[in-house]
Amino acid sequence: MKQLQEKIRTDGKVLSDSVLKVDSFLNHQIDPVLMQAIGEEVASKFADEGITKILTLESSGIAPAVMTGLVLGVPVVFARKRKSLTLISDLYTASVHSFTKNETNDISVSKDYIKSDDVVLILDDFLANGQAVLGLIDIIEQADAALSGVAIVIEKGFQNGGKMIRDRGVRVESLAIISSLANGKVEFIGEVSA
Ligand code: 5GP
Repeated sequence: MKQLQEKIRTDGKVLSDSVLKVDSFLNHQIDPVLMQAIGEEVASKFADEGITKILTLESSGIAPAVMTGLVLGVPVVFARKRKSLTLISDLYTASVHSFTKNETNDISVSKDYIKSDDVVLILDDFLANGQAVLGLIDIIEQADAALSGVAIVIEKGFQNGGKMIRDRGVRVESLAIISSLANGKVEFIGEVSA
């Protein structure tokens, strides 16, 4: 997605050979115009899949997921990283190791919001080693719901998550795939020139 690649190039900050900071438009401040374009792009890719629900992870997946849900006309559920007091029972829970924080946390979703007749699209901001997506897939499997596919805003193609999830036979659509962050420079796979 050209607009996203340009935004990453102009506003993204390469923190190391493996971490990209996009706080100015996705992870802290949010660019609603870009989020709307992302929502339209993801929705167009999965328009014919009969999706009934979008599942993401708080907090950075919520903005692109809501925009996608708006276009597809379906609700958005975000997995919580901390169990809320009003949400103590009837939860699906999975363990997720965080790439950026190097810690393992439980994520959870109320059983009220994913049902066995749901067709679910997973959407997240980044795909690195695939642990967040695996946790979300685990929750969909616990709910006996169908997984339509995975939409990712930024995939780091030099880490193994994309291959691992695709090798499971899951459709993964990433709007920007980074091939390298070496030497402080962002390189994309399939750079869109026009
Ligand atoms: P994974 O579970 O695929 O290893 O990592 C994905 C999660 O880690 C995403 O939900 C995202 O929050 C975070 N993450 C991984 N790599 C990056 C990165 O380079 N930059 C930012 N901002 N977040 C990342």
